[in-house]
Amino acid sequence: MPLDASPTSQPPQAPAHSQQPDPRPGRPGAHEVRQRLEHARNSRLAQLQALSETGQSADDHLLSTQAGAIQRVLKEIDEAFARVDDGSYGSCLSCAKPVPAERLEILPYTRYCVPCQGRAAV
Ligand SMILES: [Zn+2]
Repeated sequence: MPLDASPTSQPPQAPAHSQQPDPRPGRPGAHEVRQRLEHARNSRLAQLQALSETGQSADDHLLSTQAGAIQRVLKEIDEAFARVDDGSYGSCLSCAKPVPAERLEILPYTRYCVPCQGRAAV
C-alpha cells in the first residue's frame, strides 16, 4: 500500500504574465499617468458642464470666474499630456528635480515641486 500520494501533480508553473518593464521603478507608468490625467480632465469637464447648466440663475461674473479657473486647469492637463509624450512628465519645470509621486497622485497635472510651487504662488 502506497504511503505517499503518487507524484502525478505537476510542480506549479510560473504564471505567464506579460512582461511590462518599468523604466523608472517607483514612478507611475505613462499609462497610469494618462488615466489620472483623463480622470482629472473628465471631472473638470463635468464641472464646466454643471456650471453651464446653472448658468441662468447664478451670478454671471462668479460663473465666468469659476469657468476660467477650470479652463486654466484643463490647459494645464493638456500640457501634462504633452509632457507625458515627450518624456518630461514628473520633473519640476523650474528646478528640474523629480516631483514627488505623492504630489503627482494628488495633482497629476502639476508642473512644479512643492518648494517651486510655493515660490510661484501669488
Ligand atoms: Zn522645483
